Amino acid sequence: MKTELHTEWTVKDICEGFIYNELEGKGLYGMNGKLTIQPEYQRNYIYADGKKDVAVIESVLKGYPIGLIYFVKTESGQYEVLDGQQRITSLGRFVTSKFAILDNEIPQYFRGISKDKQDKILNTKLLIYVCEGTESEIKEWFKTINIAGIPLNHQEILNAIYSGTFVTLAKEEFSNSQNSNINKWSSYISGAVNRQEYLECALNWVSKGNTEDYMSKHRHDTDINELKTYFNSVIDWVDGIFIDVYPEMKNIDWGKLYETYHKQPYNTKEISAKTAELYADEFVKNKKGIFEYVLGGCTDSKLLEIRIFDERDKKTVYARQTKEAQEKGISNCPLCAIGHDNNKNRIWKREEMDADHVTAWSKGGATDIKNCQMLCKTHNRAKGNK
Ligand SMILES: [Zn+2]
Repeated sequence: MKTELHTEWTVKDICEGFIYNELEGKGLYGMNGKLTIQPEYQRNYIYADGKKDVAVIESVLKGYPIGLIYFVKTESGQYEVLDGQQRITSLGRFVTSKFAILDNEIPQYFRGISKDKQDKILNTKLLIYVCEGTESEIKEWFKTINIAGIPLNHQEILNAIYSGTFVTLAKEEFSNSQNSNINKWSSYISGAVNRQEYLECALNWVSKGNTEDYMSKHRHDTDINELKTYFNSVIDWVDGIFIDVYPEMKNIDWGKLYETYHKQPYNTKEISAKTAELYADEFVKNKKGIFEYVLGGCTDSKLLEIRIFDERDKKTVYARQTKEAQEKGISNCPLCAIGHDNNKNRIWKREEMDADHVTAWSKGGATDIKNCQMLCKTHNRAKGNK
């Protein structure tokens, strides 16, 4: 790979003819069309938060370096931004008055700041490496140099590595904040569309967790039908079974649950009523587990992390049971006491006993001291298994 350092290009040169696509959140072109700011392997512009974009401009005004920028020179002699897209887009958006900075405490757009400040920005020279090489050399390098600014997340790196027709189409569907389905999807998926988290989820589901293999195999596909269909099947399935939407639904691996349960028939009304009941149950500590618990037929209560008795209650109950048992000369484990073996008058130590719900939680028993008894560990385990 050949690299060449350019120090002569100014902000003005780079931002000449800058075009920004507001809808897609992309800086598109600079250098009068000679520079592509967001080639397909690049991520969406994420500096537009009034902080990172402003910081770029303030750095330039103070004469601070804004770091190295890397361009790739393509076979046709065009340039593509390999690293520096966020900084260049911030500069381009500022000089075209798309956002303001504070100047003497007053928000000012580029056209409103003094001429000397305008010139200072426009005449700032950037440090730009231009490299030429094979696609794989460039991609390898892209992985290595991505150190400045906000690091690429896992999916953004995969998009760069497997860039091609498939990623382009997949991003149009899953990374496009203008897609009207996002609102519906966002009930079941968390994360940011422009950070590729919806795409990451869709790929994870369709590939059953083997995203890299899937991307590699489909890299040159000219459609994303399978990805789209599978994703929509999962979403429609969840959406059809659960009538209400809960915040905890966002962080569930619906793809996995779909694989396990989608062939099973469900009574949506019953499912929804049960879900609502468990959601309101103060003893259910893990609300996230409710959905899998209900889909699995309400058997695996481990998923719900039912609240356990606190130490103070256990101590109180232990003391009371032990005192009563000693007076009667029987075991302080009520189940041992009614037995016929040697343990029937054994006084267990506190650490040899566990707390038990007299009436099980699943039968409506509460986790409070009135429903608490201490059992020896053997009896507690035996009861728990029933
Ligand atoms: Zn016992």
